[in-house]
Amino acid sequence: MTAVTFAYTIDHLIVTPIFQQHWGSLIGQAYKGGVVNSYPPKVVIEEQGLRDGLQNQKRSLPTAKKLEIIGMLADAGIKRIQVTSFVDPKRVPQMADAEEICKGLDRRRDILYSGLVLNTKGLERAANAGLRHVAASISASDTHSRKNANASLPQARQRIVEMIKTGKKHRLVIRGELQCVFGCRFEGRIDPNVVFDMIKEQLDLGIDEIALADSTGMANPKSIQEISNKAIELSEDKPVFLHLHNTEGKGLANALAAMQVGIAHFDTAFGGMGGCPFIKGASGNISTEDMAFMAGQMGIKTGIDIDKIAAISRSLEKYFSKQFSGKMHRVIDRKDIQIVR
Ligand SMILES: [Zn+2]
Repeated sequence: MTAVTFAYTIDHLIVTPIFQQHWGSLIGQAYKGGVVNSYPPKVVIEEQGLRDGLQNQKRSLPTAKKLEIIGMLADAGIKRIQVTSFVDPKRVPQMADAEEICKGLDRRRDILYSGLVLNTKGLERAANAGLRHVAASISASDTHSRKNANASLPQARQRIVEMIKTGKKHRLVIRGELQCVFGCRFEGRIDPNVVFDMIKEQLDLGIDEIALADSTGMANPKSIQEISNKAIELSEDKPVFLHLHNTEGKGLANALAAMQVGIAHFDTAFGGMGGCPFIKGASGNISTEDMAFMAGQMGIKTGIDIDKIAAISRSLEKYFSKQFSGKMHRVIDRKDIQIVR
């Protein structure tokens, strides 16, 4: 398969990058005037509940149930699904069935299935399992990297260089991903210049997309806009994804601020599940339903059937005997209040 074919393969699963860039610069101008009233006409959502959501639960979800949920997500209009991670099963036993999951996928051409990898070994596993899209992820924080991936920051940077090179050899679509971009519980603020340097490095190596993760939920609308603006400028024609956690309650505000400067790609998790097992106090991603509902009310298309996603979240709440942190999956089902869509 050629690189051109890959571009075609993911083309309908992203918002036209030219639009992102053009529109981002327009907003840059509008922003100077102090009023921002423009938003993207549509946003692309990558569902991360099966990876980010499930990795933090004590109880594992059976493989068959995960595959059933993947089918339900596709049926609900989700076009990009992170189905698993290829990590050490001793550290993250919930993801031990990564290969089995990939074997069981219904390979629809209109759905992009991705897997998270933290090193070359994981990337090789993903390629051998038949995945065509990987999120190669390292932390922007030295201390978090040491705890989460057992590598110093320089080692992690070397690691992602190797991951990208190996991914290219396997002709995979590669999303370069940085964790803890907006803050780290161990180190506090992360130097944005280090982040920009790392983005540049990955773009030079030929990644197809970039993802900036607020793994700790420490971002605020201002830092989101400052870093997103520069990331969009650096990425030129490549999509920039934001992966937002709602730990400090700023998740949707951050998503809104990001849209105002031209970000149109987001990771979310059904019910607002999620969290890194190696970050103290980490809590859920922004909820797929909450994000899609807010976008819908604002006239921004997501293509997502919120009721169907909400049904998945409610069934998982039952399975895990807990309430997830999202709102709409419980609100949307209520008969006693009026919901205006
Ligand atoms: Zn996350």
